Amino acid sequence: MNTDISLETSTRHDQHGRWPQAESVEDFRHNLAAVHARIAAACQRVGRDPAGVRLLPVSKTKPDASLRMAYAAGCRVLGENKPQEAYRKWEAMQDLTDLQWSVIGHLQTNKAKLVARFASEFQALDSLRVAEALERRLQAEGRGLDVFVQVNTSGEASKYGLPPDEVAAFLRELPAFPALRVRGLMTLALFSAEAERVRECFVLLRGLRDRLRQEAPDGIGLDELSMGMSGDYEIAIEEGATVVRVGQAIFGARATPDAYYWPSAGDGEPT
Ligand SMILES: *Cc1c(COP(=O)(O)O)cnc(C)c1O
Repeated sequence: MNTDISLETSTRHDQHGRWPQAESVEDFRHNLAAVHARIAAACQRVGRDPAGVRLLPVSKTKPDASLRMAYAAGCRVLGENKPQEAYRKWEAMQDLTDLQWSVIGHLQTNKAKLVARFASEFQALDSLRVAEALERRLQAEGRGLDVFVQVNTSGEASKYGLPPDEVAAFLRELPAFPALRVRGLMTLALFSAEAERVRECFVLLRGLRDRLRQEAPDGIGLDELSMGMSGDYEIAIEEGATVVRVGQAIFGARATPDAYYWPSAGDGEPT
């Protein structure tokens, strides 16, 4: 989607670990407004309507008090990477009846029953075993779940997600799991300060989605593209993101190294 307009030429992954902590509802309002303004600016650069981009605030590692402040500032969906952490927070926040939970990290089959119980969305589907486990547990709960298929667009061996060339066959299997409402594709880009290398990951996911959408089985929706996080969401929006998952730019830096969440993040330094 490059034209003569000037797109983002650097990521903000060098900012990593340096976002100030949000410590009041006011801080959350301020940070949310700042992110929304950047989303709007990115949309404007490429002629998109900001209404077509959903901001998913990511609250992993943050204490319940922070999540409650985010809620008070208007957040009604929160993203969490680890099923157990998310489940514990969901239990602790039952009083916030309209708060929904999106699980955005890798799932093992033995944790499927947790996710089936409370999550409204799961963004990291990348195996049929997990699809089967979720389907069984969701049927038992009488629930459905919005899902995104995670794609490994960076080629890093240790990253979760399906290789791009396996996604078409995977999607063909998913109509067998009616409790899973497939919404689109998700990816984690390369973690790099070089915007062009990061952008390539987003371009790849969008191209894959555009191609697969034409042959998608009935009932398999591929409208959504979940891509972009604090350091690169503006680039992702320029390349078509419909969901951006933003943690640190809203909540503040995390103390926990990213290697805990993404095996390939190494020591968390930009490459
Ligand atoms: C933590 C996380 C994010 C958000 O990262 P930030 O740097 O906090 O914006 C996005 N996606 C996934 C899968 C995550 O685990």
